[in-house]
Amino acid sequence: MLASLQKELEQRKADGLLRQRRLLDSPQAEHIVANQTPFLSFCSNDYLGLANHPKLIAAMQQAAGASGVGSGASGLVTGHHRYHDDLEKQLAKFVGLPAALLFSTGYMANIGVLGALVGRGDAIFADKLNHACLNDGGYYSLAEFHRFAHNDVAALEKLLQASTAKHKLIAADAVFSMDGDIAPIPEYLALCEQYDAYLYIDDAHGFGVLGAHGKGSLSHFNVRSPRIIMMATLGKAAGVAGAFVAGEPVVIDYLIQKAKSYVYSTPAPPALSATLSESVRLIEAGDDLRANLFEMVTYLKTHLKLEKWQLLPSQTSIQPLIVGDNKAALALSEYLQTQGILVPAIRPPTVPTGTARLRISLSAAHCLKDVQQLVAAIHQAEKVLL
Ligand SMILES: *Cc1c(COP(=O)(O)O)cnc(C)c1O
Repeated sequence: MLASLQKELEQRKADGLLRQRRLLDSPQAEHIVANQTPFLSFCSNDYLGLANHPKLIAAMQQAAGASGVGSGASGLVTGHHRYHDDLEKQLAKFVGLPAALLFSTGYMANIGVLGALVGRGDAIFADKLNHACLNDGGYYSLAEFHRFAHNDVAALEKLLQASTAKHKLIAADAVFSMDGDIAPIPEYLALCEQYDAYLYIDDAHGFGVLGAHGKGSLSHFNVRSPRIIMMATLGKAAGVAGAFVAGEPVVIDYLIQKAKSYVYSTPAPPALSATLSESVRLIEAGDDLRANLFEMVTYLKTHLKLEKWQLLPSQTSIQPLIVGDNKAALALSEYLQTQGILVPAIRPPTVPTGTARLRISLSAAHCLKDVQQLVAAIHQAEKVLL
């Protein structure tokens, strides 16, 4: 087995697909130190610049003093601390849904929710560009798994029409992690009503960024319905770690009993929940942060003028620059690195073959000078690398 693993790794390297970890020597921020070298970073999902916020650091230190550093046991045994409970109630209220449940990561949430809510005889309808963990959750659930073309409402409707499944669940990213575009949530909800289906929305990249006061994609579209179950992660715009699922009380009560990644897993430390409670307050009060973030987005979109490569038409903090070829994407990323700028090259299987890209992610912590520096370096790269 080891020899075949080695061979596969070598093939990946030959194909320009070997991923390598960079060693971060500073807090997560727009200016970081990685491999002991300073960089301007457009890599992180810390869209509001909260990951190193002094108020959150203080909140974590204080909460660790009051609650310790470990949860000790599953939430169903003795691990459900008052800080966890307070945060669940705060999150439900914030996103405008009746109840919420914390998971230790978004990956665990998606696997747990899909695994619990649907099974044999049921069907999941999933966007082809959904995040990997929605696919994993789908396979794990043992429900039929139908994938439809990206954001294609008509294709989805055909699948729903033809389905004889007992329970039908549409699953989609709200903001697509590698494309930055937004799912047509109101249209999906209308299909749910027409075909007696339910909608599971993964708002990992909308929470904190979109909607009134950063309440997320449901607020962006101003939709709420008992047919909607939403998930959002807390390690991206919220700047900390974890995830929550929100929806009808019966859904949350059921998940507490049946979502295995909740039942059989130790919750994140209560101090993280206390930190996140402060983070949600900063998100809610952060209209100025979002205004700055969208100013950066507009600046990039209006000033980047390229011949060979192009930005996807995204309106969010995720601005993918499509290069196409894997090695060319890598070469661009490496060139920017020589200019002191980090932007990750995203290659298959994370994105479809032939669409390798630079995933530029913007943050409220960036200033115009940072984005100007990026634009100038990409313009230069197109000349040098063409
Ligand atoms: C990051 C991400 C996840 C996973 O969340 P983690 O908390 O990082 O495990 C799930 N869904 C989407 C769309 C994501 O981008």
